[in-house]
Amino acid sequence: MVLSPRLVLVVNSGSSSLKFTVLGAEGGAPLVSGVAECLGLAEARIVFKANGAKTIVDLERNDHTGALQAIFARLDADGLLSRVGVVGHRVVHGAERFSESAVITPEILAEIEACSPLAPLHNPANLIGIRAALEALPSVPQVAVFDTAFHQTMPRAAAFYAVPMSWYRDHGVRRYGFHGTSHRYVSAEAVRFLGLPADDHGLVVAHLGNGASATAILNGRSVDTTMGMTPLEGLVMGTRSGDVDVGAVTHVARLTGLDIAAIEKVLNKDSGLLGLSELSNDCRTLEAAADEGHAGAILALEVFVHRLARHIGGLATSLPRLDAIVFTGGIGENSARIRAMTARHLAVFGLVLDESANSTCIGGRIGRISRGPGPAMAVVPTDEEGLIAADAARLTGLVDADETVRRAI
Ligand code: ADP
Repeated sequence: MVLSPRLVLVVNSGSSSLKFTVLGAEGGAPLVSGVAECLGLAEARIVFKANGAKTIVDLERNDHTGALQAIFARLDADGLLSRVGVVGHRVVHGAERFSESAVITPEILAEIEACSPLAPLHNPANLIGIRAALEALPSVPQVAVFDTAFHQTMPRAAAFYAVPMSWYRDHGVRRYGFHGTSHRYVSAEAVRFLGLPADDHGLVVAHLGNGASATAILNGRSVDTTMGMTPLEGLVMGTRSGDVDVGAVTHVARLTGLDIAAIEKVLNKDSGLLGLSELSNDCRTLEAAADEGHAGAILALEVFVHRLARHIGGLATSLPRLDAIVFTGGIGENSARIRAMTARHLAVFGLVLDESANSTCIGGRIGRISRGPGPAMAVVPTDEEGLIAADAARLTGLVDADETVRRAI
């Protein structure tokens, strides 16, 4: 039962950009959303999207607080600001401290700050957004939703690297996993859509966007995932390498004299689909180039799919039974070609692609794209903002807990 018609503001604050969405506490389509870009630079601006129309506003004050002030001014003009009952913040790293979302208090802020050494590029930027929102809306409760939280159920066997245990004890080195909000939302939706029992299912969810990760989910809980201590491990991504032999990295460092920061940049920004294709990090561009015979694009797509299928096979071994493989993210929701290539590798599991369903299940449609008695293959659009809003509304009592549990968990 809905208790209040209030709104949730979802904030995703990065180092140079800040995305926001305003949603009803009971879910539904965003009322207004947008992104502030080039923060810290003279050309800082904000793009608002509402009712299919875009407006661009230059920021007078070019930092995160300035961006939030511009967002609040717009919400006020639209008559929405006074209806915002809670702000939900995406926070990248919650380490071992956070296994679920949390209402922000001074103590919680300090704990998020304590997680910053594990995500030095992300958590400080998230904290800037939280502090700016607290300053601007001091009487509105705020909730942190962590990318890592869903994976805190991983068993030790999946969570540990075979390195000296002192690295874990002294520096927190272990596998945490990311994209948890997406994996949690998509797996719950898939269970509902496929009619699987909530307490007896095994899924692999592949979130394929610019960043990409796959997760094994047993009865609603993450039991293994491809990203590790940082989002660099695992699948081939737009510009990230995913798995690579550390010996290869030290070899190149020794030969070239590249320092750690330079190596980190190459593996995060110059690798993946972009590094392999020497053309683009964008799957659409690569598919078009592959059709024209571009050798680099063809190789990039093949390595992407090979790595994905290999990881899906590996993740399945953390499950007693594989009921379904679920695709999401920009590539997973739209690329029938990548899904078909992956399905060919997965024939070993008895998976049979339904070519016609696969080719029509694009553009945000949910659907089953396999046939026969083997594991199902399905496409489920993700909605990270929706789940952040649902957590924020539930934890602050804006909606009835049962309603949110039914909707989003
Ligand atoms: P992010 O991780 O930044 O949120 P998205 O989930 O939006 O990224 O995914 C972006 C990726 O999705 C890009 O590689 C883009 O080319 C790909 N993509 C989007 N639409 C299509 C499509 N129709 N066919 C193939 N790839 C697509």
